Amino acid sequence: MLADYHLHLENGPKELEYVKKFLDQGKSLGLSEIGFSEHCYRFKEAKHLLDNFFTAPRNVDSVKEYLELLNQAKSLGWPIKIGIEIDYVPEAESAIREFISQYEFDYVLGSVHWLGDFGFDLKEHLPRWETSDLDIIWHDYFNTLLKAAQSGLFDSLPHPDLIKIYGFYPKTDLNEFLEHIIKEIAKTGVALEASSAGWRKPIGEMYPSRFILGLIKKYQIPITLASDAHFPEDVAKDFDKLLVNLKETGFTEYLRFNKRQRIREELK
Ligand SMILES: [Zn+2]
Ligand SMILES: [Zn+2]
Repeated sequence: MLADYHLHLENGPKELEYVKKFLDQGKSLGLSEIGFSEHCYRFKEAKHLLDNFFTAPRNVDSVKEYLELLNQAKSLGWPIKIGIEIDYVPEAESAIREFISQYEFDYVLGSVHWLGDFGFDLKEHLPRWETSDLDIIWHDYFNTLLKAAQSGLFDSLPHPDLIKIYGFYPKTDLNEFLEHIIKEIAKTGVALEASSAGWRKPIGEMYPSRFILGLIKKYQIPITLASDAHFPEDVAKDFDKLLVNLKETGFTEYLRFNKRQRIREELK
């Protein structure tokens, strides 16, 4: 049985009925559990963690209400877990730590979406790619991902090579650098996410690439499974393809979490 640990409620009403739509879709595709991981910047209580032109107008929800809603769903016996997706920004580390300590999550995801003021996966920032030094950006991205791992704040790091989203690759060979990054991440004990979301993005391939997936296997980093669904119909989307890639790479296990304790599950 599989578990999709990366779902967003932000596009619907904060109601049990909407939560159930995600669950029903997951069940129909054979999932045994789903985990919600709302963007931290949605929550007013977290406004100080990342405040910019993109997050400010979206900073409208309450983390307390989010937890209440999902705990209510849990109390009905629904197989769900409560997570959160936090934007990792090195300068905010201690504030992020303080924020996490105030709430009870089953798991915490740490994502790199921002390199300074460059929201590299945003359509609004697409023109900036054209004038950027791709070599510097790719190095910056993976060095920041490593910092996120070393911060010890997170249980899993989503879409590990999100930087490829629009297909801007540097001309230099990064394989040795990527192996160094994955090897160092392995020392931290954090999990990395295998995500089908990339198939729905311009790059049209899973996160991470088969090359990085091979390194994750080589250095025995545990994985979590994700669709990054922002709508119920995307829950576990392309998990069949995801599974084929994971099995071909030699993976036999994935992780679930309960109150931040990891549970190893057979991948089948
Ligand atoms: Zn993300
Ligand atoms: Zn997400």
